[in-house]
Amino acid sequence: DSVFNHLLRAPEDPILGVTVAYNKDPSPVKLNLGVGAYRTEEGKPLVLNVVRKVEQQLINDLSRNKEYLPIVGLADFNKLSAKLIFGADSPAIQENRVTTVQCLSGTGSLRVGGEFLAKHYHQRTIYLPTPTWGNHPKVFNLAGLSVETYRYYAPATRGLDFQGFLEDLGSAPSGSIVLLHACAHNPTGVDPTLEQWEQIRQLIRSKALLPFFDSAYQGFASGSLDADAQPVRLFVADGGELLVAQSYAKNLGLYGERVGALSIVCKSADVASRVESQLKLVIRPMYSNPPIHGASIVAGILKDGDLFNEWTIELKAMADRIISMRQQLFDALRSRETPGDWSHIIKQIGMFTFTGLNAEQVSFMTNEYHIYMTSDGRISMAGLSSKTVPHLADAIHAAVT
Ligand code: PMP
Repeated sequence: DSVFNHLLRAPEDPILGVTVAYNKDPSPVKLNLGVGAYRTEEGKPLVLNVVRKVEQQLINDLSRNKEYLPIVGLADFNKLSAKLIFGADSPAIQENRVTTVQCLSGTGSLRVGGEFLAKHYHQRTIYLPTPTWGNHPKVFNLAGLSVETYRYYAPATRGLDFQGFLEDLGSAPSGSIVLLHACAHNPTGVDPTLEQWEQIRQLIRSKALLPFFDSAYQGFASGSLDADAQPVRLFVADGGELLVAQSYAKNLGLYGERVGALSIVCKSADVASRVESQLKLVIRPMYSNPPIHGASIVAGILKDGDLFNEWTIELKAMADRIISMRQQLFDALRSRETPGDWSHIIKQIGMFTFTGLNAEQVSFMTNEYHIYMTSDGRISMAGLSSKTVPHLADAIHAAVT
């Protein structure tokens, strides 16, 4: 008899499980809008041209080897990642009070940051928006933090519950950690305006809360890397401390390469260097050191002016295709005279639309139309194309009428 006989079957991951179900469906019209990965107009995964170019250079460079990276990863990659999120002229970088460590994409960066805080920060509670990316509570719980929530999304307006947001942060114990989606909030596609960010900043600083930004979509929301980094830069500009987890999964299409970074902005260079020494103690027993390939690709692009420009063009093209899918879906529902106000489809930003469809309507669309999405009604706009918009619009129309 197996020593594991007592194990129950665990449920599929609620997000990745959508793809498992999709793969089993033999229908030729099936559509996967669950996956948070960019697809071309032909429905295919995309490897960016700049990525192909740098990979070719890496292969041709016979001086390269596959030795271990340091615990904190590739030095160039770390410097360039900080510059990308904080801006080339960031005072925090110039004053050497940022420590950046290469981690396993966004998830790994959040986890390392969470473990570090659980070990060394005086307040072990982190506030997450409701709703949030489904993995957040698990990542931070297992890191050793206790998870609380703040109001974020208002179902009635399909927009931001700004009042609730401020009230909940206002009543959080002083010093609490606050997780903020830097841009393109997942799953709602609802972001605060810059004016609202400024009010959020003032509240967070006045209560000595500690901001932890999750930046998984820089450049993907607006098409501009700088515009999407504004909320983070607003907080850095006041001289206060904060954490940022960066992912290159979406904006460089490096999903499976698992490349990301955790930056901690500190008050002084001395604190930053002690923080880094402690981050190494978190990382070493977890996975020793990060993988070399993805970070080398990113560094190769970020340090070369021409490649960087080429990247911004390819990134903008991805963002624009998503924005155009929003318009096409909105127009298709309007032309069908589908009941309801669907303007949130064009107002929301980033990879996802939070449709407002309920679990029952979602399962109707899956059963009758072979359209797959998470049960909260979130659809990935990146999984849509001009060819599939009519099918989706027909399904939504049927689901709500
Ligand atoms: N944070 C958010 C909000 C996300 O949507 C994602 C990707 N779905 C991640 C973090 C982490 O992604 P990865 O680990 O692939 O970089």
